[in-house]
Amino acid sequence: MDYFALYKSGELLKRVSRAYQQLLACDLCPHDCGANRIKGERGICGAGLKPKIASANVHRGEEPPISGTNGSGTIFLSGCSLKCVFCQNFPISQFGNGEEITTVELASRMLKLQKQLVHNINFVTPTHYLPQILAALWLAIPQGFRLPIIWNSSGYEKIDALQLLDGVVSIYLPDMKYSDDIAAVEISSAPDYCRINRDAVTEMKRQVGHLQVDDNGVAVKGLIVRHLVLPEGRAGSLETIPWIAENLGQETHIALMSQYFPAHKAVEIPGMSRPVNHEEYDAAVRVLEEAGLENGWVQELDEERGSA
Ligand code: SF4
Repeated sequence: MDYFALYKSGELLKRVSRAYQQLLACDLCPHDCGANRIKGERGICGAGLKPKIASANVHRGEEPPISGTNGSGTIFLSGCSLKCVFCQNFPISQFGNGEEITTVELASRMLKLQKQLVHNINFVTPTHYLPQILAALWLAIPQGFRLPIIWNSSGYEKIDALQLLDGVVSIYLPDMKYSDDIAAVEISSAPDYCRINRDAVTEMKRQVGHLQVDDNGVAVKGLIVRHLVLPEGRAGSLETIPWIAENLGQETHIALMSQYFPAHKAVEIPGMSRPVNHEEYDAAVRVLEEAGLENGWVQELDEERGSA
């Protein structure tokens, strides 16, 4: 793993220290709250100093190169810097359900998953716990940790934060949620999402390139972009998909998802109270084909939902 060289040279420890410094007036994500998380203050994401996790399990339902045959070692972090009105995991992401642990314990969960022979460690919603994740990695490496790290995020991230992950993260799995900032604010409380998200995925691609898999089809390095189609075109699929082809390249792997369901507070937002219909989803699939994006996965639209 690239991170082993960073560990040996002392660079990883320097990054741990730099990342923790940011918690004094937290500017880890684009919200720039300025909360002193070292002293226990909390910002928009609700995260404190210690990592809080909702689960650490073997997951077999990710994209095939991520789950492989043995599963992905998924560690679900609590809290989130986005406030998506439709979030199905809102008790974890917005109400902060989970278990507060130490970085030593986080390292031991990573090692425990490695013993279960998973292909990777998949940090879900990790942005606000970047320093703690780097620290856990630094603690886990001398105990034999060697798995690829996956950064499975909303894609609402700052470049300087991502640069702390250069050589640490092997596989980026970001969302590209919107192509319109009005929708991003109304639905996810994420100002300036489009520019920030596009800059972030560009940096991710610079770091890891296109997806590479081993002889068994398991991901070893690269980028997979996830895009969830929303009703009434609110995700801006018809703009985001061509942008990916033009700016990240037609070889980019995309997971196009149809699974939108109006969970949590979605019914309060006009147009968001129903699943995606066939017309909307077919239009997104057509644009994907027209853009020449042949790598990735297109989730099927559930018949029952599609006719709703
Ligand atoms: S990580 Fe949390 S506390 Fe820090 S800037 Fe983002 S929302 Fe605010």
